[in-house]
Amino acid sequence: MPNTYARITLPTGSVLFEEGEPGRAAYLIMDGEIEIFLRREDGEVHLAIRRTGEIVGEMALLDAGPRSASARVACDCSLIPITEDQIQHRITQLDPILRMCLGVVLARYRDMLPLLNNAGLVRGPALPSRNRLDEDAAEMTDREAQTARMQEAIGQLVMERELRRALEKGELELFFQPIVRLDTGRLAGFEALMRWNHPERGMIPPLTFIPVAEASGLIVEITRWALNEVGRVMPEIMLAALRHPGATEGPPFVSVNVSGHDLALLDFPAMVAAMLAASGMAPESLKLEITESILMGDPKRASDTLARCRDTGMGIAIDDFGTGYSSLSYLSTLPITTLKVDRAFVQAMLGDPRSRKIVQTILRLADELTIPVVAEGIEIAAEAEALTAMGCAFGQGYLFGRPVPLAQTLTVIESYGARLGRDAAMTSEPSAIPADATPSLLKTG
Ligand code: C2E
Ligand code: CA
Ligand code: CA
Repeated sequence: MPNTYARITLPTGSVLFEEGEPGRAAYLIMDGEIEIFLRREDGEVHLAIRRTGEIVGEMALLDAGPRSASARVACDCSLIPITEDQIQHRITQLDPILRMCLGVVLARYRDMLPLLNNAGLVRGPALPSRNRLDEDAAEMTDREAQTARMQEAIGQLVMERELRRALEKGELELFFQPIVRLDTGRLAGFEALMRWNHPERGMIPPLTFIPVAEASGLIVEITRWALNEVGRVMPEIMLAALRHPGATEGPPFVSVNVSGHDLALLDFPAMVAAMLAASGMAPESLKLEITESILMGDPKRASDTLARCRDTGMGIAIDDFGTGYSSLSYLSTLPITTLKVDRAFVQAMLGDPRSRKIVQTILRLADELTIPVVAEGIEIAAEAEALTAMGCAFGQGYLFGRPVPLAQTLTVIESYGARLGRDAAMTSEPSAIPADATPSLLKTG
C-alpha cells in the first residue's frame, strides 16, 4: 500500500484549483469526491463529479495551458499529486508521434469545451450527456485491466517520491561483490550493487527500484550518487588491499552499473572525471558496466560518451552479455574492456550442452578480440572449474562472495589475504604500508 506521506488530504469545501490558473499538478483521487465546476456571473455551473480511482487536472498539466474549470472537494479527499516535473520528464521521453497525437487530442478537446459547456447551460447544470459518455467509455474498456494499470501507475508514482526522499535522506547504500581471477583465486575487483535501506520496508533490492528510477529520470542522480560513493570508499578498499598482500591481483577495481539515461547526458564524462579528481581515484580503478540495450536508443551518442570515458582510462564492461538484442558489430566499434557472461548461461552450463556451447563460443569470440571475460553467477566449484578449463579469466558469484556492505567487504579482503597471503609472501616484496596509514594517504590519482 502507498505510504500516507505521499498523499494530501483535503476537507469538504476546499478548492483544489481555479479556472484560468496554470496547471502545476494533476491529482489521483485515492478517496473522496471532487466537483468540477465553472464560476459564472449568474452562479456556478456544475460539470462533473470525479470519484475514487479517477484523475483530475490532467489536461492543464499535459498541455501546460490554463485550467479549463475549477475543482472543489465535494467529499473529504485523499489525493496523490502528479507534478510538473514528473510529467515533463515523461513527455520528453515519449515517442514523438505519440507526443504529437496527444497534443492534437488535447487541442481539439480544448476547442470543444465551450460547446460542451454551452450545451450544459442549455440542458441544465448537470451536463448529463458528458457524464454518460464517460461511463459508456469506461464500460467499453476492460475495467480490471484499467484498475491494474492505475494501481501500477500509483505504485510507481509513490515509489518515485519515496526514492527521491531516500536519496536525500541517505537511505541508499552500495554493497560490493567480489570479482576474482579464476586461475589464482585472488580478488580482481568488486561490483558495486545498490540497496535501498527503507525505514519501514527494510532492504529493497535494486530490481524493484532501479526500473522506477529509470522511468522517472531519477536514475541520473542515483548514478551520480553511486559514483561519488565509490570515490568516497575507494581509499578504504585500496588500503585494505595493500594491508593484505596476496588478497588481490594488483590494485582492485570497482565497477558501477550505468544506464542509458546516464550516457545520454552530454556532461557524463566530465561528471565522472570530476568525481575521480575529487576522490583521487585512478580512472583505471573504475569500470562502467553497461547493458546492450543502452546501445539501442541513440547508439552514436552512447558510443561517443563511452569513448570519452575510455580515453581517460576507465574500463567499460558489457553486462549480461548474450541476453540482449546482440548486434555483434558494437564489439568492434565500442571501446570495450570486459565482457560479462550472463549468469543464465553459467548456471545452465553444466546440465545443458547448448548453454555450455554458448559460453564456449563467447569465450572464443572474446579471446579473438582480446577482451577478458567475467562469468557471472558462479555458485558451485564445478562451475568455476569448468570455466577455468575453458579459459575464462574472471568469475563472480556466491561461490566467491555475496554482495555485502563496505565494512564486510574490508573483512572479505582480509580473509582472502589470510588464505592466499602466504603464497604472496613468497613471491612479492613485504608490504611498505605503515600500520597507521589512513585511507586519505592512499589516494591513487
Ligand atoms: P547485474 O548488474 O547483473 O548484477 C548482478 C546481480 O546478480 C546482482 O543482483 C547480484 O546480487 C546477483 N548475483 C551475483 N552472484 C550471484 C549468484 O551466484 N547467484 C545468483 N542467483 N545471483 C547472483 P542485485 O544486486 O539484486 O542487482 C540486480 C540488478 O540491479 C543488477 O544486475 C543491475 O542490473 C541492477 N543494479 C544494481 N545496482 C545498480 C546500480 O547501482 N545502478 C544501476 N543502474 N543498476 C543497478
Ligand atoms: Ca552489472
Ligand atoms: Ca550482470
